[in-house]
Amino acid sequence: MNVNLKRLKEAWSGGRNLLIIALLTLAMSAAFIVFQTTERLATIVDGEKTIEYTFRGEKSVKDALLENEISLGEMDEISQPLTDTLENGQEIRISRAKEITVTADGKEYVFFTAQRQVDKIISQLGLRLENLDMVYPNPEDEIDEKFSGEIKITRVVEEVVTEEQPVKYSKVTRNNQTLDKGVVNTVQKGKDGLRSITEKVVYHDGEEYSRTVVEEKMEKEPVEEIQEVGTNVYIATSRGQTRFDQTLYVVATAYCSCSQCTGPGNGTVTASGARTRANHTIAASTQFSFGTEFYIPHFRGNSNRGIFVVEDRGGAIKGNRIDIYFNTHEEAIRFGRRTLKVYVLD
Ligand SMILES: [Zn+2]
Repeated sequence: MNVNLKRLKEAWSGGRNLLIIALLTLAMSAAFIVFQTTERLATIVDGEKTIEYTFRGEKSVKDALLENEISLGEMDEISQPLTDTLENGQEIRISRAKEITVTADGKEYVFFTAQRQVDKIISQLGLRLENLDMVYPNPEDEIDEKFSGEIKITRVVEEVVTEEQPVKYSKVTRNNQTLDKGVVNTVQKGKDGLRSITEKVVYHDGEEYSRTVVEEKMEKEPVEEIQEVGTNVYIATSRGQTRFDQTLYVVATAYCSCSQCTGPGNGTVTASGARTRANHTIAASTQFSFGTEFYIPHFRGNSNRGIFVVEDRGGAIKGNRIDIYFNTHEEAIRFGRRTLKVYVLD
């Protein structure tokens, strides 16, 4: 009895194993049938076009494309490898290559790419973007299917430059009653200053685009020039306080009535018609009309007390030159040539 029971148990155990195997096989077959017959869905996004693809059984990405008559160009990109097995609910994205023009650094790059993001297209070309560079469209933008323009990179460089510029000094004049009219004294000499100007210069593709002053500094203040201008118009002469029109320094020479001094003809008659007189007659340029009186302090000890009258002219007597008449040739030679201060009386 014991033995029989044991055998029975063994038999049962063996049968159970078989049963389990049979049941498993059945379940797998059922699952396989379900797998083969259940409809599943994948989405294919091909540019603007979206295709809902229903399939049964095991399909690869490549199968999906073939069944939908979708072909891929050499430069087109697809989101999954063609050999991948399709799963329910999967989305396959196809990015079609597009002709893109990128201009940068004076060159134009025309090429096909499936890439849509601007900065990625740029790096595909091996171009590097620097901090300040300007890109159109924006690097993080994605170009859409309608985009037909070009991607433009403008290289931007900023430079800070400092230049020094001289600052012209100004001039001031002051009247000085103690100085004779016509006298100008420089009491303080003018000196140019120095200003530094710092500018930010922006270059677009190597060409100056803008210039902005960042800082302006006076490195050295200019020194103004100060001049004193004489306003006194009175000079003490033998006539008392005599009003004068101007003072000037003249180059004075001397002459007499000899032919050496005045050439052929009558040397005693002046250009004004008056007779020459020592201590009286002088020749001056035409800016001084006949009859103009000159007070020449150098001669104040003479009988004329230094007062002469313009009565004559001379070929060499131009500008600030005068010729003083003497009675004899010797006197004229002795006088020679001197620079004298002259008051032109009113
Ligand atoms: Zn002479």
